[in-house]
Amino acid sequence: MTLLEEKSRQLSTITQMAAGVAHEIKNPLTAIKGFLQIGAANPDLRDSYQDIILDEVNRIESIVQDFMMLSKPKSSVQLEYVNLEVIISYVSRLLDPDTESNELIVHYTCDPKLNGFYCEPKRLKQILINLVGNAIDALDEEGEVQIEAILEKEELVISVTDNGHGLTEQELLKLGEPFYTTKEKGTGLGIMVTKKMIDDLDGKINYQSRKNEGTSVTVRLPYRT
Ligand code: ADP
Ligand code: MG
Repeated sequence: MTLLEEKSRQLSTITQMAAGVAHEIKNPLTAIKGFLQIGAANPDLRDSYQDIILDEVNRIESIVQDFMMLSKPKSSVQLEYVNLEVIISYVSRLLDPDTESNELIVHYTCDPKLNGFYCEPKRLKQILINLVGNAIDALDEEGEVQIEAILEKEELVISVTDNGHGLTEQELLKLGEPFYTTKEKGTGLGIMVTKKMIDDLDGKINYQSRKNEGTSVTVRLPYRT
């Protein structure tokens, strides 16, 4: 590929992304504007639209946050001494309110050797939040999510396994495509951002899934002591 062709390919990717972002932000903005206009005309209805407006604002916020993470350079990684079990337990508790039914359980096990190594807590936490969040979403009401962290050779291996709705081979191929979502309130940016954060940390991610049986995501990161 010539330099000019490469530049034009880059430009077309940027154009597509910009169009995607604009579109994804315009939808909630249109909804917010509409509900505010109705509320202005009918003050009695105003309260009943508060929740929808807040939902839509949250949606815009998460799209913007995801894009800010994508534009962060790898050089912004700041390694700190972390305890993985503390991070996993924090993420499980954080996502617990999402699990409204008691039929849904998040378990975790963590090798004690992982209670002290160098990694960036911010990205590590966000990776787990995205993967565990997707696993919980795949369960629709009941099922289990198992988080397992082990040390394998010189790598730290974290797997997040759910027995949720799983993916077909075709759906598996779509993972990580910007704006690919099957959820009503999804942004379709989570996996793309997760992959980028894992790249920043010199790691790898791999998905295994079977339709109607479940999904297992494995993340491998260097074990730095
Ligand atoms: P979002 O969660 O906003 O939809 P993601 O990029 O995180 O965006 O995920 C994209 C899509 O991949 C989801 O909408 C879902 O269809 C599918 N997916 C991701 N993780 C899982 C999982 N653990 N089980 C089943 N489907 C999944
Ligand atoms: Mg997601």
